[in-house]
Amino acid sequence: DAYLGAIEAGNGALNAYIAVTADQARAMARASDERLGKGEGGALEGIPLGIKDLFATRGVHTQAGSHILDGFEPPYESTVTSNLWADGAVMLGKLNMDEFAMGSSNETSYYGPVTNPWRAKGDNKALVPGGSSGGSAAAVAAWLCAGATATDTGGSIRQPAAFTGTVGIKPTYGRCSRWGIVAFASSLDQAGPIARDVRDAAILLKSMASIDDKDTTSADVPVPDYEAAIGRSVKGMTIGVPAEYRMDGMPGEIDTLWQQGIEWLKEAGAEIRPISLPHTRYALPAYYIVAPAEASSNLARYDGVKYGLRVPGKDIVEMYEATRAAGFGAEVKRRVMIGTYVLSAGYYDAYYLRAQKVRTLIKRDFETVFADGVDAILTPATPSAAFGIGDQDMAADPVKMYLNDIFTVTVNMAGLPGIAVPAGLDANGLPLGLQLIGKPFDEETLFATANVIE
Ligand code: GLN
Repeated sequence: DAYLGAIEAGNGALNAYIAVTADQARAMARASDERLGKGEGGALEGIPLGIKDLFATRGVHTQAGSHILDGFEPPYESTVTSNLWADGAVMLGKLNMDEFAMGSSNETSYYGPVTNPWRAKGDNKALVPGGSSGGSAAAVAAWLCAGATATDTGGSIRQPAAFTGTVGIKPTYGRCSRWGIVAFASSLDQAGPIARDVRDAAILLKSMASIDDKDTTSADVPVPDYEAAIGRSVKGMTIGVPAEYRMDGMPGEIDTLWQQGIEWLKEAGAEIRPISLPHTRYALPAYYIVAPAEASSNLARYDGVKYGLRVPGKDIVEMYEATRAAGFGAEVKRRVMIGTYVLSAGYYDAYYLRAQKVRTLIKRDFETVFADGVDAILTPATPSAAFGIGDQDMAADPVKMYLNDIFTVTVNMAGLPGIAVPAGLDANGLPLGLQLIGKPFDEETLFATANVIE
């Protein structure tokens, strides 16, 4: 009731929730109380969570922030949310997001932008919460849920976490099942939590993660007790600091924050080692070929026949065209066009195949430093603090928006785990985050090191 009251009072200004499931939340909470009364119950008994609109929730609003999925209420539940409910968590509702998770500011949502609960000192201008999991980050930061699910294809958990002073972890590719999560770019998409602190993130990820025979890319690797990693000493660990993440034009504050993070880890007994990840600068261009290519294929299913919106036409082709023209927003159309182009005969080798080769080189950069004894890598999470709603106009310059992901996409391209942890405030009093990147399936080291920085 306290959380539902907070949503009632606070969501109007933030637009973080696009559906509130009050009756269901109360029923789930009552069932949870009963289990606890009988001395039963799971790790998340009674914990109220918000769910990104990308996760299929049985009989409940699931539209991926898009108009084309109008009215879609899936007859099935995603594996990640099933895992959470099995541990006793309570669903408060569905959270706003960029349309089909394409964006870095939550401004591409059909449901309108989400407002960041943070404001710059002495300025009342509304800021973006980041994206695409902007609703998840804003709801956690504003205490409209105890934690939230999110997804990350190129930074969509870590960048909004950094913009809202919350903790977000994208686990290793395969850690969480993608089953029942609306697909954007299947080889990059991963689910993870956004939470108020590192411990909450660890507890939530433990529950979300699982092998699943409905997702052949989910991994058969035991899920450890992540919470036990918190408080673990970082003494003797080697933390890599990659030269390539120091960018031209990066605000001095980001660099200062990075140096501060290095100091904290040094004080805690870690050894800091300068490293090189030479293919870093190719990651963003390669991502913006691979991700749209996969998206163009995944989004072919929205044809007005199977679910959601249908705009009639005189024949079936005209119906497809009218439905997709009306149902997709501008950014989604841009991705579908880019993706279709780079996969076309004659262009496939020049763009898609080349991007896949670059992806392998990026992955090898990381493998080399990890094989050389590096335990985790420290970088800034974002090249700036949260910007104003409308400041980065995608219609005028989409590449400017894409640059927000410059520090995060490499991790998806390599399939590695990455965590964003709040590390300080900028001169305007806005939160800034640092990122730690780990070895495959070594989220524990990320929780241990992030805990030192938090
Ligand atoms: N901002 C990136 C994009 O628009 C990443 C989005 C994501 O991680 N879902 O593709």
